[in-house]
Amino acid sequence: MPIELKTPLPGPKARAAMARDARVLSPSYTRDPEAPVVAERGQGAWIWDVDGNRFLDFAAGIAVCSTGHCHPVVVKAVQEQAARLIHMSGTDFYYQSQVDLAERMAGIVPGAHDKRVFFSNSGAEAIECALKLVRYKTRRSRVISFMGSFHGRTYGAMSLSGSKAIHRKFFSPLVDGVIHVPYPYCYRCPFGQKRSHCSLECLRYITDTVFKRLADPADVAAVFVEAIQGEGGYVDAPLEFLRELRKITLQHGIQLVCDEVQSGMGRTGKMFAFMEAGIEPDVVCMAKGVASGLPLGVTVWQADERDWGPGSHASTFGGNPLACVAALATIDLLEGELMVNASRVGAYIRSELHRLAATHRLIGDVRGRGLMLGAEIVGEDGRKAPEARNAVVTACYRRGLIILGCGENTVRFCPPLVLTEEEAQEGLAVFEQALAEVERA
Ligand code: PLP
Repeated sequence: MPIELKTPLPGPKARAAMARDARVLSPSYTRDPEAPVVAERGQGAWIWDVDGNRFLDFAAGIAVCSTGHCHPVVVKAVQEQAARLIHMSGTDFYYQSQVDLAERMAGIVPGAHDKRVFFSNSGAEAIECALKLVRYKTRRSRVISFMGSFHGRTYGAMSLSGSKAIHRKFFSPLVDGVIHVPYPYCYRCPFGQKRSHCSLECLRYITDTVFKRLADPADVAAVFVEAIQGEGGYVDAPLEFLRELRKITLQHGIQLVCDEVQSGMGRTGKMFAFMEAGIEPDVVCMAKGVASGLPLGVTVWQADERDWGPGSHASTFGGNPLACVAALATIDLLEGELMVNASRVGAYIRSELHRLAATHRLIGDVRGRGLMLGAEIVGEDGRKAPEARNAVVTACYRRGLIILGCGENTVRFCPPLVLTEEEAQEGLAVFEQALAEVERA
């Protein structure tokens, strides 16, 4: 099924919808005026807009539509559930789909301990739950998180994030007690090291600087980490870094919270990106791809006697029956074939991106795993080139490929996990044309 553009972009109906939208929607959204898509329907890795243009989708609703748009198995599960029971509230009542999903979640998160599961509606809420939980369990107040991280827009999640100043501008005071430390962004190592001679200085910063100068480890409740930073630029932490971080947290009784909101649910070829390192976190946060587009946040942790009791945390809508059955169907599909597909098609895209990097000066770095891949766009001097990145995204859009940037100057590849190699090939051909266009300009 090729890309098909029937009108100039955006088409007349799209323009009309955007004009209405501009009058009433919050101006805080970050829509790209150079690459607007007004979606009408979706199927697999394809989106049709209101003017009948068919786009190939390498963004998946910001890494959400893991099983593709409107996967028939997910649609059927949601339709059947909608006819039976739409809402009950797990805060005060019980229903079958919620416990079915909780058991399933407890099973897919690694670790021999019993697990506990909390359901909410978004990634930020999954993080809020984790932040409250680790403080409750440890009775400690300080929390470490990473520069470049993004954990969401609510106060706790925003306070943990170290992504963009605009996210925080005029919103202080933030939640107190967060210490931001450098992330292992190896392409531009914050300590000036090379990948081949890395001595994990970023961990030494925690042990030698933070623990000695800023916070006694006995005051630190948790470290929040993305195994692959998402909004920060699809930056993958070395596996050794994750293993050593786990050791440090265990040594000091600090909870390790893995934010798998973007990198989770099979996207990297494993259910969770941290699994590649063989570690077992204390807490895992999920959202985005977990329910194929229905709103669901999930926080799973290793149970122990310090767990909180009734009233400490709850949510009216969290773990709504529709989201629960969508998540159960999603996990079946991921375990069935989609994680394998993510590895296979992801390896193909990655090798093609390396080929492009060899011939196109704009690509400075290729990174990530599975279908969570980033190409960092750089100038002649190797400096970050955000304008060129934006121009590449726009040039892709004009040719019918939906793709998103992340970080300051990276293009992210986060298509639905149903993407075929032929579809990948079509999208990459567009990406290459876009690179060539921007290089010529
Ligand atoms: N954590 C990570 C790693 C994310 O990428 C995001 C969103 O991009 C969030 C948390 C917040 O998720 P939500 O937008 O669903 O609140």
